[in-house]
Amino acid sequence: MEGLLTRCRALPALATCSHQLSQYAPQRFHHCAPGRGKRLMLSRMFQPQKLREDQVLSLEGRSGDLTCKSQRLMLQMGLIHPASPGCYHLLPYTVRAMEKLVRVIDQEMQTIGGQKVNMPSLSPAELWRATKRWDSMGRELLRLRDRHGKDYCLGPTHEEAITALVASQKTLSYKQLPFLLYQVTRKFRDEPRPRFGLLRGREFYMKDMYTFDSSPEAAQLTYSLVCDAYSSLFNRLGLRCIKVQADVGSIGGMVSHEFQLPVDVGEDRLVVCPSCHFSANMETLDSSRTNCPACQGPLTETKGIEVGHTFYLGTKYSSIFNAQFINVHGKPSLAEMGCYGLGVTRILAAAIEVLSTEDCVRWPGLLAPYQVCLIPPKKGSKEEAAAELAGDLYNHITEAVPQLQGEVLLDDRTHLTIGNRLKDANKLGYPFVIIAAKRALDDPAHFEVWCQNTGEVVFLTREGVLELLSQVQVV
Ligand SMILES: [Zn+2]
Repeated sequence: MEGLLTRCRALPALATCSHQLSQYAPQRFHHCAPGRGKRLMLSRMFQPQKLREDQVLSLEGRSGDLTCKSQRLMLQMGLIHPASPGCYHLLPYTVRAMEKLVRVIDQEMQTIGGQKVNMPSLSPAELWRATKRWDSMGRELLRLRDRHGKDYCLGPTHEEAITALVASQKTLSYKQLPFLLYQVTRKFRDEPRPRFGLLRGREFYMKDMYTFDSSPEAAQLTYSLVCDAYSSLFNRLGLRCIKVQADVGSIGGMVSHEFQLPVDVGEDRLVVCPSCHFSANMETLDSSRTNCPACQGPLTETKGIEVGHTFYLGTKYSSIFNAQFINVHGKPSLAEMGCYGLGVTRILAAAIEVLSTEDCVRWPGLLAPYQVCLIPPKKGSKEEAAAELAGDLYNHITEAVPQLQGEVLLDDRTHLTIGNRLKDANKLGYPFVIIAAKRALDDPAHFEVWCQNTGEVVFLTREGVLELLSQVQVV
């Protein structure tokens, strides 16, 4: 209650501040006196818990099979919190990273003409009965029944729903095609044994795109466009990704590829040919095969996490739901379809799995929840006078580098030593940690800058810091 009152009293002061406040929650700011700008104060934010491994295990209700680094780190750092087996609360840092990932995905999908939709998670059984997947998906479908006795599932994928939707558009013309419709929504799968945290959950975010073309040739072109967009996405995230031939599984269709991140905890076995570009999921090959089907050279085996999947479907779904368009001759014709998934929460966890050390989270630069953590000196220390300079630097950064507004945290827990706060910052993986300590009192002031993704530590003047940060890409 007291906190609430303090906050209410602070509001008139905030309201007189000339900065736009509406896009931020006011309680995250502090010291908003005229001329001092708004600041994100770490002490007022959701604090990482820094849990020990045994505490994490008991949170998960498990005894010793917490085998994956990203799961352990994300739990220890307070990035996720278990809700029920295979389901997690995504905490503030994770949500920020995920929103950034969705923005990168949106950019890539819209560059190739994608249009965003949003379909209900609650999916009526009759759609799934029409494709016979109500039975063939078996126990993976999370099913439920409403008060009128009508059956539904919580959608794990939306081929049925989107094809029925497009079929309802009676005036669709070949001139409108290709249609590339996509969404980023929660998906559900009744995993028998959810594990590895966000890597294999029961409820997760996926980007799923469905494409509608006027001919098989046009659909093939769309297929390669989407694959190129996926490659571009992983390049921008700085993640090495292998595109492999894959099995069409329960989705069906004629051609399919997986995008795999090579990692030890990966559950997929892949074969790659070092001499040519051939690569495949082991399940698509004869298990006794040891040489490359393309060049006959020896194959090497690796493990991967599937982060994307593409399918060329042909008319498998459009023929069932009668998804037609009016062709160039004025006649109705079945649409040629493709479907394309990206595991959004899975990409985030897999990136952490690939990039982090045993003790410290590392993010793809574009996805880091905050780009900069600024550490002023400890209260009562010899360098305390540098606190003012840290505050000034904060203002200069957010004024001179507009893309960093909302991206700079001030670690105002000044009852802690710089060393302790640096340790926390290192564990959470802010790409840039800036310390105002003894050398900030030099003339000119020098700040200690930790570039965490390259491992460099440099001393820079204010101008040097601004120049370095002006090159940071923020999505
Ligand atoms: Zn080969």
